[in-house]
Amino acid sequence: MPRLKIVPKHEDRNGWWETLPPPAPANVLKGERRVHTVIVGAGVCGLAVAHQLGRHCPDSEIALVEAERVGFGASGRSAGFLLNVHSHGAPKRTDILRRNIRLWESGLSDLRGIVREFRIDCGWHEFGRIYGSAGPNGERHIEEIAKTLEQLGLDRRWMSRDEMEERIGTKFYRRGLYTPGSALVNPAALMRGMARHLPLNVSLYEQTPVVGFEADAHAYVVETEAGRMLSDRLVLAAGVYLRQFGIAPGRYVPMTTYASMTDPLGEGALALLGTGKPFGLLASSEYGATIRLTGDNRLFVRNLFKFNPNSPTPAPRVCEIGKLHRKGMLNRWPGLKDAGFSYSWGGTMAFTWNDGAVFGEFAPGLYAVLTNDVSPMTRGAAAGRLLADLMEGRDSELLRLQLEIPSACRLPPRPFLDIGIAIRRGLLHAAARKEF
Ligand SMILES: Cc1cc2nc3c(=O)[nH]c(=O)nc-3n(C[C@H](O)[C@H](O)[C@H](O)COP(=O)(O)OP(=O)(O)OC[C@H]3O[C@@H](n4cnc5c(N)ncnc54)[C@H](O)[C@@H]3O)c2cc1C
Repeated sequence: MPRLKIVPKHEDRNGWWETLPPPAPANVLKGERRVHTVIVGAGVCGLAVAHQLGRHCPDSEIALVEAERVGFGASGRSAGFLLNVHSHGAPKRTDILRRNIRLWESGLSDLRGIVREFRIDCGWHEFGRIYGSAGPNGERHIEEIAKTLEQLGLDRRWMSRDEMEERIGTKFYRRGLYTPGSALVNPAALMRGMARHLPLNVSLYEQTPVVGFEADAHAYVVETEAGRMLSDRLVLAAGVYLRQFGIAPGRYVPMTTYASMTDPLGEGALALLGTGKPFGLLASSEYGATIRLTGDNRLFVRNLFKFNPNSPTPAPRVCEIGKLHRKGMLNRWPGLKDAGFSYSWGGTMAFTWNDGAVFGEFAPGLYAVLTNDVSPMTRGAAAGRLLADLMEGRDSELLRLQLEIPSACRLPPRPFLDIGIAIRRGLLHAAARKEF
């Protein structure tokens, strides 16, 4: 049986995860089981497939297999922005953007529905988002975002430098642009909550890395560290590890980005943050820092992208990167010099060249889904649900929209890819320098 070269194993401290109560012990797959469908990967895509497939086929057995704990992968490491729309750069083809918005909004609405139905405690906050601009590039980029929102007819409101200071306590940004419609969450709590409320016919196996798989004449055979699973259908929702399974190699770029989070801030520190109320801020430049003040008064900073074709970044390197986050925090709020980051972590997400899709049936009974580029959490929630619809032959206008997205195109081979990425990354970093 072909063996996977890399399986996920994070060693750093994902703050969203670590500040939740400890989870129940993992149900690890041991021995052999036969089910109708195996889903590999319990991130936002895999969980969305499992929820919808479980509802569609209440009489068939489904297994969801996760290498680590649910909420510990990229989906539970994100900044927790569940975006209804997001776009950097000059107004793009609005027809494509409008199509994407329908998918992102439907993913957001699915997640909202699940959170409400099962009363998942994940700090769900219908905040919307503030774009903040610093420096001349930032000014140019925020104008482009405003223009796109205007073309789409979406609500938006400018915030002057003084208003920004009043709201979030810093004059770092020349101005802000507030737009409603998206939500903020603790993403690890959302993932765990979705896993806790899976349909009854879905069994979850955690700390169960798939180490090899093959198809024989009768079944897909998935080998894990301590067991084997046989199934009629196999769904791969393994995020950036998809290519380990031979799906879409050379069609997406794994980029790691990093985040840090403080302990809850005391009253004195909170008083330095304007109203001291929770907020979510995206830089107007693509590579600028994302900042949040959470509902439990923690400051969160996400910054830096690195091309990472291999395993997760080692924990000591992640701690080093945490120093950059601290610098970013102090540049905005010099008074927070006593507030250290207790958690720093990295996570890897996929980018395609053409905003393309990795979605559908790749061989009889073998399905895959990947979320990528902008708004991946809501995009992934929608794509996961639609993949389950496709598997069960449930047609819909949204499924047809999803199927219209061109496949992710082939990227140049390495080392040309590395050179291309280094150049693009350098340019985007330079353009976002003032928003680090
Ligand atoms: C710091 C950071 C901030 C981000 N902020 C945002 C944001 O605010 N909004 C947003 O929309 N997106 C954000 N993203 C991107 C987003 O988190 C990801 O694109 C998205 O979560 C990917 O979802 P997924 O289900 O495809 O993959 P994942 O969440 O990675 O899920 C795949 C799962 O498959 C499992 N797996 C892989 N291989 C195996 C195997 N061999 N055996 C068993 N299991 C396996 C993995 O352990 C993993 O849990 C952010 C990402 C990071 C890292």
